[in-house]
Amino acid sequence: MRSALLDHVGRLTDDDLPAYVYDLSGLREHVDRIRAALPDSVQLLYAAKANSDSRVLRTLAGRVDGFEVASGGELRHVRAVAPEVPIAFGGPGKTETELASALQAGVERLHVESEHELRLVTVVLGDGLVDVLLRVNVPVHLGQVALAMGGRPSPFGMDPAQLDRCLEVIAADPRLRLRGLHVHLASGLGAQAQLELVDEVLAWAGHWAHERGISLAEVNVGGGMGVDYADPLQVFDWSAFGAGLKPLMARHPHLTLRVEPGRSVTAYCGWYVTQVLDIKSSRGQTFAVLRGGTHHLRTPAAKQHDQPFEVIPDETWRRPWTRPEARDEPVTLVGQLCTPKDVLARRITVERLRVGDRVAFAMAGAYAWNISHHAFLMHPHPTFHHIDEAETSAAPGTYARPLS
Ligand SMILES: *Cc1c(COP(=O)(O)O)cnc(C)c1O
Repeated sequence: MRSALLDHVGRLTDDDLPAYVYDLSGLREHVDRIRAALPDSVQLLYAAKANSDSRVLRTLAGRVDGFEVASGGELRHVRAVAPEVPIAFGGPGKTETELASALQAGVERLHVESEHELRLVTVVLGDGLVDVLLRVNVPVHLGQVALAMGGRPSPFGMDPAQLDRCLEVIAADPRLRLRGLHVHLASGLGAQAQLELVDEVLAWAGHWAHERGISLAEVNVGGGMGVDYADPLQVFDWSAFGAGLKPLMARHPHLTLRVEPGRSVTAYCGWYVTQVLDIKSSRGQTFAVLRGGTHHLRTPAAKQHDQPFEVIPDETWRRPWTRPEARDEPVTLVGQLCTPKDVLARRITVERLRVGDRVAFAMAGAYAWNISHHAFLMHPHPTFHHIDEAETSAAPGTYARPLS
């Protein structure tokens, strides 16, 4: 944890915990690096569903070319928080009301999921115009990926045969402007695998358009750039990805490529900070019970991984009995929920972990608080903190540095 964050955490009382701490300075640096790594012909959108925290969105606004939203709720929220940012509206199962408000709000792109949805658009469009990308489930082969949205039977996007039916609808309605195709097939790919997928998708799209005499202006290849929860330092290689895109784009000189990552943009800026309430041994295994749990940070339950963490030792123990602790042994970190599924990290060897120590879970900036079932058991919500070194002058912390 960076010292400015650690200082802030040091000033939090126990009752401020659990706390979500967002490193806005780190986020700013990270997204600027992503932007700088991408060729100019590539546009960068942020998929707001990864984390729609207002200050996170405001930090990203102006540093990306737009936000991708996937519901009427996200659309309203993003418009309120960052009115100037271009919006692409995607996602399955758009209602007529959502489509109408998206068109009224003047979304920059509409990502259409089916022929029926396209026909609904024609009903609510009035005398406006809309720029459309058709989302296609491109017949590519995907190997082992964290999450597959396509390349197999899927509720997302449409089969190539449906695209042709959409072309008929578009040809008959001058208010619909086809700009190109949208593809979001998988999550969790490394830079090399992502490049191979983009290559395959662009070749398919070029062939498809050529056969139909269409000039494609744009292909949005989605998000899914991998992050490694087992190794927070193993960040997606944006430089290699950007460098690899250059020769690819040279083969499609009139095409604008769009990417719309979510997780790989915001995962690293968020920390879920909490505290050890109890430590016990059960039939040979050690458990640490923490304030909060997966009702605040569902990510490890949803993805079935161990959330990486740092221990922030606390030296204020004042009870007259021996402080419960684990030492050089595997510990399972669980939350306060009455379910065996409330596990944040399983059998991780710690040098020392004591009741009262604080635990800062890393990579909690994407699909974390906003995907969590926080009404379950009615524990208090976490507090939220945004650290921006451009505006705060951090005072010295009262807590020691983490174990090295
Ligand atoms: C979720 C989603 C994204 C972002 O995916 P990440 O894995 O967070 O990068 C992008 N595009 C679409 C259509 C999505 O559904």
